[in-house]
Amino acid sequence: PKEVTDVICPFCGTLCDDIVITVSDDNKTILGVKNACAIGAEKFNHQRLPGRVKRPRMRQADGTFKEVSYDEAIDWTAKMLVKSRKTLMYGWASTSCQAMSVGHEIAEKTGAIVDNCATVCHGSSLIAIEDVGVPSCTLGEVKNRADRVIFWGCNPAHAHPRHMSRYSIFPRGFFTVKGHKGRKIYCVDCRYTDTAKCADEFIQVAQGFDYELLNAFRAAARGETIPDTVGGVPKEKIQEIIGDLKQGRFIIIFFGMGLTHSMGRNHNIDIAINLTRDLNDFTKAAIMAMRGHWNVTGSGQVLGWQYGFPYAVDLSRRDQARHQTGETTSVDLLNRNEVEACFYIATDPGAHFPVDAMISSSKKPTVTVDPHINCTTEISDLHIPVAMVGVEVEGCAYRMDNVPIETRKVVDPPEGMLTDVELLTRINQRVDELIAAE
Ligand code: SF4
Repeated sequence: PKEVTDVICPFCGTLCDDIVITVSDDNKTILGVKNACAIGAEKFNHQRLPGRVKRPRMRQADGTFKEVSYDEAIDWTAKMLVKSRKTLMYGWASTSCQAMSVGHEIAEKTGAIVDNCATVCHGSSLIAIEDVGVPSCTLGEVKNRADRVIFWGCNPAHAHPRHMSRYSIFPRGFFTVKGHKGRKIYCVDCRYTDTAKCADEFIQVAQGFDYELLNAFRAAARGETIPDTVGGVPKEKIQEIIGDLKQGRFIIIFFGMGLTHSMGRNHNIDIAINLTRDLNDFTKAAIMAMRGHWNVTGSGQVLGWQYGFPYAVDLSRRDQARHQTGETTSVDLLNRNEVEACFYIATDPGAHFPVDAMISSSKKPTVTVDPHINCTTEISDLHIPVAMVGVEVEGCAYRMDNVPIETRKVVDPPEGMLTDVELLTRINQRVDELIAAE
């Protein structure tokens, strides 16, 4: 066995880059994983999952799956995409930016809608960032400089388990040599989370009152009058925290779905960004979304460069790209039965979308591209397995701080298995042939 070092973890938006993988001599099997957290290690261990699907599976009339060749699967998918007047092409969070680029070409040609899982997580953050901009930084700056850290509506202890040890609470950085001792950690949440247990101070905000509390922080920072309590937090506590933040050299606010999916949504992020701006009048402050899915940030980047919108991009008009939350977003499209086919890749909407949306999806021709069986493959007409990105094939992915990282190939994929890029390229070619023959 040999060890491969400096491997990038392909699971969450932290993209830890210090993973060590033990690989069999024939380069086919992962034998051990070092440095990754439990969820990251599990992802690598899935590479040798018994019963892994190695060839496409097509659903039969009796509901069972039958193995088909990649050629048949590619032909079926291309025909579905060309025939459908509006296809939802959703997912992209666990694949590479290179694969996204080919997928978007197919979407342009066939008039599809491209959406990623920001649609059900940080879409509201992206709306706020488009509206008011964002004073942000890299995770390296956080590690080396941040001495005041706020976790607001996020729980990295569960969602990004090594975030706190690598960047935000415990590590010793260039200007933060004392590690946790040199940092003051605040956790703002409506419930006492495992992240709150690691914080120096837990501020319990009443559910749905984040906007009001953020506004109160802004007012307190400017020395304005605030009510006796805001969102269940006493005025004195708000003033005390603001006083402490102003003493800091570098403040970072990390926020999660507790802000993006509670009352106020994008307005919560808007006001959190403005609080960050205000704090820059006194010291250095930055803010960052805790992006969950591995390369969902990359999907937003690639869509952003190409079409100007980071998610839910409607290309069905062919001559222009459109985006409107509530109109071109996946769940709304499915709930209104507005798409004629579904193409899912590298994300599992069956595990995250509301039931009604997936019932609607299950009634349409559906293709799911994923290395493994998941909730979505089981309601699809066709499941096409592919090599695991970041494990069996390299590719570019963006960390939550928008830093692009080239991921590494660690082992060979199962013999004859296509990568996302290869599969999408062949679908793209078949789409060209079908369109030319029309
Ligand atoms: Fe992987 Fe995220 Fe765990 Fe790091 S924190 S090892 S990126 S799952």
